[in-house]
Amino acid sequence: MMKIGVLALQGAFHEHINMLNRLDVEAVEVRLPADLEGLDGLIIPGGESTTIGKLAVIYDLMEPLRQFAAEKAMWGTCAGMIFMAKEIGMDQPLLGVMDIVVERNAFGRQVDSFEVDLDVAGLEGEAPFPAVFIRAPKLVDTLEDTEVISALADGTAVAAKQGNWLVTSFHPELTGDDRLHRMFIEMAAA
Ligand code: GLN
Repeated sequence: MMKIGVLALQGAFHEHINMLNRLDVEAVEVRLPADLEGLDGLIIPGGESTTIGKLAVIYDLMEPLRQFAAEKAMWGTCAGMIFMAKEIGMDQPLLGVMDIVVERNAFGRQVDSFEVDLDVAGLEGEAPFPAVFIRAPKLVDTLEDTEVISALADGTAVAAKQGNWLVTSFHPELTGDDRLHRMFIEMAAA
């Protein structure tokens, strides 16, 4: 059985675990480097990227997570996307694995949270994806061989793929739609 981990230091990790449990994979909460052993992929949840980063440093997870990313599938949602980025223009602990430039809290106070139907490339079926944004980051630039797979109507990139890495500005674990989780499981299986 496929085993997918969810970094469980802070944030919306329970919701990802619940989603994975519905999908015939073994879901594992990751708090220590040893928890990464035998996983096929890892999800880094939304939450507060500064807190996730600080705790990852305290738990000695930074290097093990980078090594994991070099070999396996990784998906960052919201704060997780920030944590995976190479550049955010702010000083906080980052894995810095993916060739993306991200701006935190990029939608401003007036639109702190919103939901929008998005077309996502490679998603099963015709229906748009119900994307929930909460104090979300934007993908301001993609470098190297990173492919934007979804953007808002104004062109703002909000999801991207690079090899077996996936990032989304929004929170698929807070909807009933499991298509992005299934897409990630397929990436982890490849
Ligand atoms: N604003 C948060 C941050 O900067 C991310 C918000 C989220 O994950 N929903 O880390």
